Amino acid sequence: MDKMLSVWKTAPKEGLELKDTAIPKIKDDEVLVKVKATSICGTDIHIYKWDEWAQNRIGKNIPYIFGHEVAGEVVEAGKNVRGVHVGDHVSAETHISCGYCYQCKTGNEHICQNVKILGVDTQGTFAEYLALPYRNAWVNDKKIPHWVATAQEPLGNAVHTVFDGEIVGKTVTIFGMGPIGVCAAGLCKIAGAAKIIAIDPVPSRLKFAKEFGADVLIDNSTDSNVQKQIMDATDGLGADVFLEFAGSPAAMKHGLGTLKAGGRASILGIFPKPFEVDVTNDIVFRGIHIGGINGRKMFDTWYKAKALLPKIGLERIVTHRFKLSEIEKGFDVLKRREGMKVVLEP
Ligand SMILES: [Zn+2]
Ligand SMILES: [Zn+2]
Repeated sequence: MDKMLSVWKTAPKEGLELKDTAIPKIKDDEVLVKVKATSICGTDIHIYKWDEWAQNRIGKNIPYIFGHEVAGEVVEAGKNVRGVHVGDHVSAETHISCGYCYQCKTGNEHICQNVKILGVDTQGTFAEYLALPYRNAWVNDKKIPHWVATAQEPLGNAVHTVFDGEIVGKTVTIFGMGPIGVCAAGLCKIAGAAKIIAIDPVPSRLKFAKEFGADVLIDNSTDSNVQKQIMDATDGLGADVFLEFAGSPAAMKHGLGTLKAGGRASILGIFPKPFEVDVTNDIVFRGIHIGGINGRKMFDTWYKAKALLPKIGLERIVTHRFKLSEIEKGFDVLKRREGMKVVLEP
């Protein structure tokens, strides 16, 4: 009875393994979450494929249960738990911070020096149960279905990036129309951006961007005159804000190259390796404000996401729902770049 289905990374190669394992025992400062929905993130695809990033980042951690986007119900609470109760519906902030380093003590827990990432450094959410530090449990409105609430993590990434500077009345370029980029387009729309320009090489993703409010769609699969198209769409002025979710050096070049002098670049994409940027001419002389975005501010971003979730219609990014035991199907869909968010329900 105390066994659960769980999805493990057991071997240093592509793939995963379904296993029956013991339900985790919680510590005094943890809650036990009965997982009702968990979704597949880009990070999980790296881990599944066992690419260079995964080998370097988590080579030492296997065997372990992966997955980090989750929604479920608290079924047990340790004796030191405060503010979260049995029966609550929760999601997880995936950055488990130390609470004592310089960043944690100065309001920057999301870039904690000793951060552990759920499902990367710790046992993850692709399972029927999850032991979660209570400080990382975010209590959801019970009206939100679990299969929608699990997608709050990418929404949070988008909220953090979009609202890292002014957005009302601004012209925005968004590179990379995965779930985070699409959410960003939706948020820019709600917040009153003047014009939203979405750039991606996959036509079906551009269609999503349009549904979420993008005004101009640019297919950069052939890499032909992206900059000209952006300049044309902005009456030759360029954009006020450039949001990077693609993790692509070409996107950086085109994004910076079409930003107005004095504009803002907020970058969340992960780039496979270092590359050259003309800092003097493209950033310094043009007075560009450039910022890296990591995770979600804890928990300022979550409060914002909570208010924006019903307005953005987050359920629209969930394109596929499978049982947890069918997880391979979910990875197949994403490998073919067919879906937006794939949700697994144990
Ligand atoms: Zn994620
Ligand atoms: Zn810390």
